[in-house]
Amino acid sequence: MTLHLDAEELNSCVACGLCLPHCPTYRATGEEALSPRGRIDAMRAVQLRGSPVDDDFVHFMSTCVQCRGCEPACPSGVPYGRLIEGTREFLARDGKLTPRWQRFGFAMLARHRLLLAGSTALAVAQRARLIPRRLGLGRLPIRRGPPVQPTGRDVWLFTGCVMDAWLRDTHRSTAKVLDALGVEYAVPGAGGGCCGALHLHAGLHDEAVQLAVATMGSMPGDAPILVNSAGCGAALKEYGRLLGTDGSHRFSRRVFDVHEWLATRLDDLPELRQHPGSVIVQDPCHLRHVQRAHLAVRTVISRFADVVELDDDGLCCGAGGAYSALEPELAADIRDRKMAAIDRAIERSGAKTLVSANPGCSMHLQQMLDDRGIAIRHPIDLLAEALT
Ligand code: SF4
Ligand code: SF4
Repeated sequence: MTLHLDAEELNSCVACGLCLPHCPTYRATGEEALSPRGRIDAMRAVQLRGSPVDDDFVHFMSTCVQCRGCEPACPSGVPYGRLIEGTREFLARDGKLTPRWQRFGFAMLARHRLLLAGSTALAVAQRARLIPRRLGLGRLPIRRGPPVQPTGRDVWLFTGCVMDAWLRDTHRSTAKVLDALGVEYAVPGAGGGCCGALHLHAGLHDEAVQLAVATMGSMPGDAPILVNSAGCGAALKEYGRLLGTDGSHRFSRRVFDVHEWLATRLDDLPELRQHPGSVIVQDPCHLRHVQRAHLAVRTVISRFADVVELDDDGLCCGAGGAYSALEPELAADIRDRKMAAIDRAIERSGAKTLVSANPGCSMHLQQMLDDRGIAIRHPIDLLAEALT
């Protein structure tokens, strides 16, 4: 049996174990098989030593959050993201991962009107207390206000699927900041409603490729593409690797996390009003471990507020795209560790606000933060409010 993984990449792990403390599933369970080293060894066993693809193997692979916290920690440069994506693709093709009902849900993401209607229905059900609290879903919006309207073609503002359904306010905040800079923006045309990140994580490689091609076609030209959702930004930046064409590599080079793009332009903004109190920064994994652009959030926030760091070295919060819905118990255990780090930061600083630049993390953490009287905001929302 072969997983069709690159043998050189698979063999690049020297089993040193330096990644283990950075792996949320290993930290939560203490199980070697749920660590990066253990998972790579299981992949090798199947591909190189003829082990069967049994339920244990599927469990090891499906419980990986795909946070990629193991990558920056690895001295050998093991491309773990590629290995787990390839393995999940194999398992999904073999019918062992991502069953039909999940595929239906993922298909909805690219049908924006249906997604908005479904999200509103879920929000109504949530208000009627029909959604169990133990699922840990943050408060979904019933009204989301008008979509952002394009003003020109200096940059593209990528709006996405879930980001637009759940955090459209942040798109309006981003537009406000661009207006303040005198930068005109366009929004994606037809086909640009979903980047395919969640499909790729679920092993739905062909669907992810189709969505990548459509997304690239929705934002033609050379203008920079600004993304305010860390997961989407990471996916768009990896289209070059996914498609392997010159055009896709060119496209990926145009993509910026919005904070990364703003960090060198802050002097062009009007004077900012100071935020009352300090602000805790939570790093979404796909901003910190994949895009490695997390410091730019601090550059932006420190212009108008004191930044408070967490002391957990960027450990994942357990949101992981659809992970918190598919693996709720493990996701909750992982979140408990993140909340302990947040509690320590609150105690040190007295902060009443936490920022996160990813909709999945915000939704996953919101309920816990509500219980503590802490507001969770997108950094760009705070910046837009600071504009005088
Ligand atoms: S991607 Fe995250 S959860 Fe998966 S093995 Fe690496 S550190 Fe662990
Ligand atoms: S993935 Fe990297 S850090 Fe982890 S055990 Fe292998 S070589 Fe060491």
